[in-house]
Amino acid sequence: MTMLEVRTVAVRFGGINALSDVSLDVAAGESVGLVGPNGAGKTTLFNCLLGSIKPSRGKITFEGRDLAGVPTFRRARLGLGRTFQRVELFAGMSAREHLLVAERSRRGDGSLLKDMLNRGKPRPDEIAVADETLALLGIGEYAEQPVESLTLGQSRLVELGRALVYMPKLLLLDEPSSGLDVVETLALAKVLASVRSERGTAILLVEHDLDLVRRAVDRLHVLDFGRTIAAGTCDAVLREQAVITAYLGVAAS
Ligand code: ATP
Repeated sequence: MTMLEVRTVAVRFGGINALSDVSLDVAAGESVGLVGPNGAGKTTLFNCLLGSIKPSRGKITFEGRDLAGVPTFRRARLGLGRTFQRVELFAGMSAREHLLVAERSRRGDGSLLKDMLNRGKPRPDEIAVADETLALLGIGEYAEQPVESLTLGQSRLVELGRALVYMPKLLLLDEPSSGLDVVETLALAKVLASVRSERGTAILLVEHDLDLVRRAVDRLHVLDFGRTIAAGTCDAVLREQAVITAYLGVAAS
């Protein structure tokens, strides 16, 4: 079943066609890579999906529902999860505490008054959600460490965990390997595979690291100058001359 449907979406910034009639599908449980050289329109499409940019033309539906006019926070509640390119964690808080805050926010239970009366202590069921997520991410042993003592790779997993607590149906990942070394990127690829196999979460991955992309996705969608230049399985797409010229040519320079 198609979960996300992007149909002939166009975005203009002044005189620039950032996206021209882009169509893309992600099925339930599927993992799709969105790649292309700098300025291809990946972030613009990502922002259209999140609701922070309104397409000038076209339609985006999620589980059959037209997303036009649906604000970003509602999209999250519908099952569209996302991570940020930059890690945004709070120094002094542990990995588990980050996930507990996310879990409480998901349940809509956060209350300043409760916290002031010290009734905001985490309940066993909240701790169970946090710890189950940390285990899925393979960072359970760091649960109590303050996040500033974690490596960038581990911090990025905590950030991913915050998104996973919301049990997204589709996870939008924006350059998750940015700043990670080869070992950390490999660990991330394994975590993404576990998330898919254990939770059936669909993934749309914007990523420059083609090695991670190959490991993590079923299909690739390639943009260049705001247009789709190729779409299909990784192997087939990466053999296409237009992709080699546009994407690999730029990446290799
Ligand atoms: P990168 O890999 O470098 O992040 P990208 O594929 O994400 O690139 P976008 O950031 O979506 O590409 O940019 C697509 C085009 O739209 C580029 O020409 C960019 O300069 C332009 N653009 C993006 N955002 C804006 C904006 N807010 N105002 C004007 N032009 C913009």
